[in-house]
Amino acid sequence: MFKIAIKKSWLHCPECGKEQKILITNTANCSGVFLKCKYCKKEFEVIVADGVQSDLQV
Ligand SMILES: [Zn+2]
Repeated sequence: MFKIAIKKSWLHCPECGKEQKILITNTANCSGVFLKCKYCKKEFEVIVADGVQSDLQV
């Protein structure tokens, strides 16, 4: 059997680029989830496709 490596990376705020306290794996898929950045206080949508976070702004 093949081992699938799971890598985790931190989510970043598209506004200020700071790390958020959310980890995504390299197989993550997500949309329609909003997060408020604790640094710049802006709300942004968390869009992740196959573990890659989109930098689309709200
Ligand atoms: Zn921010």
